[in-house]
Amino acid sequence: MLFADIVVDISAKELDRPFQYRVPESIEGDIDIGSRVEIPFGKGNTLKEGYVINLSHTPSFDENKLKDIKGIVKRSLTPEERLLRTANWIRNRCGSNLSDAIKAVMPVKMEIKQKDERTIIIDASKEELEEALNTAVKRHYTAQEKCLRTLIDINNNHASENEKNLPHIKYDEIKNISGIDMSVLRALEKKKLIRIDTKSVFRDSSSYIIEEKINSESELVLNEGQKKIVDDIIESYDNKDLKPHLIHGITGSGKTFVYIKIIEEMLKRGKQVIVLIPEIALTYQTVKRFKNAFGDRCETLHSKLSHGERYDRYIKAKNGLVDIMIGPRSALFTPFENLGMIVMDEEHETSYRNDYPPKYHARHVAEFIAHDTKSLLVLGSATPSLEAYYRCKQGQIKLHELKERAVPEAKLPRVHITDLREELKKNNRSIFGSLLYNLIKDRLRKKEQIMLFINRRGYSGFVSCRSCGAVEECPNCSVSLKAHVDEGKLRLLKCHYCGFEKAFPRKCSVCGSNIIGTFGTGTQKVEEMIHKAFPEARVLRMDRDTTGTKGSHDEILKKFGAHEADILVGTQMIVKGHDFSHVTLMGILAADMSLNVSDYEAYERTFELLVQASGRAGRGDEAGDVVIQTYQPENPAVFLAVKNDYEAFYESEIVRRKSLHYPPVSHILEVLCLGKDEAELKEESKYIADILKKKEAHVLGPTQDVVYKVNNTYRYKIYVKSPNDKLLMSYADIIREDMKKRMVKGIIVQFKL
Ligand code: ADP
Ligand code: ZN
Ligand code: ZN
Repeated sequence: MLFADIVVDISAKELDRPFQYRVPESIEGDIDIGSRVEIPFGKGNTLKEGYVINLSHTPSFDENKLKDIKGIVKRSLTPEERLLRTANWIRNRCGSNLSDAIKAVMPVKMEIKQKDERTIIIDASKEELEEALNTAVKRHYTAQEKCLRTLIDINNNHASENEKNLPHIKYDEIKNISGIDMSVLRALEKKKLIRIDTKSVFRDSSSYIIEEKINSESELVLNEGQKKIVDDIIESYDNKDLKPHLIHGITGSGKTFVYIKIIEEMLKRGKQVIVLIPEIALTYQTVKRFKNAFGDRCETLHSKLSHGERYDRYIKAKNGLVDIMIGPRSALFTPFENLGMIVMDEEHETSYRNDYPPKYHARHVAEFIAHDTKSLLVLGSATPSLEAYYRCKQGQIKLHELKERAVPEAKLPRVHITDLREELKKNNRSIFGSLLYNLIKDRLRKKEQIMLFINRRGYSGFVSCRSCGAVEECPNCSVSLKAHVDEGKLRLLKCHYCGFEKAFPRKCSVCGSNIIGTFGTGTQKVEEMIHKAFPEARVLRMDRDTTGTKGSHDEILKKFGAHEADILVGTQMIVKGHDFSHVTLMGILAADMSLNVSDYEAYERTFELLVQASGRAGRGDEAGDVVIQTYQPENPAVFLAVKNDYEAFYESEIVRRKSLHYPPVSHILEVLCLGKDEAELKEESKYIADILKKKEAHVLGPTQDVVYKVNNTYRYKIYVKSPNDKLLMSYADIIREDMKKRMVKGIIVQFKL
């Protein structure tokens, strides 16, 4: 008799523990760890689905009280053992339940039938076809008549000398011609005029048709700096040294070319490779370059694919038909059997963070998978995450640098700063400072292109003074306070870190101005303002609203590339990796918006955005202009970005992090307490915080979570900071044990490091 431990797929956190079931003999041969099964659940025995996480021959309970599994879910896929290990790791580190973690490591969960491709083979002489046509005409079989005429055409145009090579055509190519459908063709097949050949094929994977052959990488040679990196990384791999690598190289220094060369080496060693790139960079040049280099051995996985396409690519990877998978964070879970390397381009990107449960960061999961599979991890960025760079300094990651452009011809842009406080003094309340306004006018006259970037990240609830730019900050945490909307009104300002709160101010605490509020300007509003200020300009907008559908993103870029618009306005999306040679002006409307996000990474994000945005202008023959408009020109994230000085920014930022006990210097263990009875929950989280306060760590809270009630469940958070992450994990275990001992019911605690 076989018994299975099953985690039930219900979002209720209270059920994050396995339940044991009997495995009926009929499915004993098919069931496996990871199988998705149907089970009767609860008092009413309602059918639920869940994952098998363990199988054993001895029951943990009275065998007679166990229920039977109903069956294995039809067409469901089973994750590989190593991906289940990954799920388990995610659950322990990222504060999620196991069922969510298992779903996360399965980018494809269901088997989807392969597409049938039908080929029509004409197996009749010209005369036979003509005769059939005459009959069809006589009998007024109009559909057959039309179909036969098409086939006769194809037959006549078929100029093969080779007898065996019969005229043929794919059904897909003629099915839209009126009169042609399968029933008519089947009738002709019965008459032995044609044969219909059906075979299962992978769905079209040519969504990145390589239009222009970009300077073929195969003809390039590594320059000295690049070669040193490739040799060094491969050598350490061959010596079984699996310490991760970080390539810090300015934009255009040839990082992508380095990845390609390292991948070539890994393929020679019979290894497979996952290449992570940010979702927004996925649609353009990078993928084309990899396709150019590796052709069919390389595939992409991303969210705009249909279920069928995703399934096909998943299967190709599983069966070893491809060696390289390129994609956003979910591509980490490609079921390669022979994984040898994970490349993570633009490792600093925030899109590597999974924003819904399980809230993992792809860099951390990549590190686990690399370790688990004895693979290499290669990170790359022009503006490395503080975390990665810090760990280089600590000797945990090996740093490689590329300080020069691979092709030196492109001129660097001139970068200007506009102090928006000065503009207000001059009574200019528009979103365009006078310099940016004049430069836009100038470029429109010269018929050159302009990109305007607005920092959407910043527009989320912080409160600032329109006269002096002062932002309401938390006295404890040095992050901005967020406005909380209550019954449609702004009543409260709150710190998301320590729970500090105060009433919404009527006046600016710095200058006394009463023009104070949340910054609500979205891209759409900015577009309207552009139309008003520059009625002659043709404007394209790119943000989440205009790029929702498949291909729309490419469409906008293509239009702009073809100079069908003068101004492209947009969010983060326009900043990343697209080169337009006609763009000679880049305007950053309010650079410091993102400084005010209540997030300790705000400076880092701002610096990175400004550096990346500045790199957009003047990549052709002319040097362009970049105008950075800001309320805080003296902030290091702003002025060091203007100087493009990463090292100096890192030094200043790491000091700030150190003094505030923030990552990467300290680790933060997030303790999330959930419960339906608020009073009880409050008491329990206070009890937990008190245990933690006796430990060697910095404890904040408990405080209500940002969203503090979900589905009638209340949420409290405690933050525990320490430079020692292992210590923090051990505190999590202590709390878990303590709760078990006290038999706490109705309250769930999740830990996230
Ligand atoms: P990054 O990924 O660091 O931005 P890329 O790999 O995209 O840099 O390189 C920038 C440009 O320089 C590309 O057009 C690339 O083809 C070219 N390039 C890179 N390495 C070399 C090289 N060794 N010789 C000539 N051109 C190179
Ligand atoms: Zn605070
Ligand atoms: Zn003010």
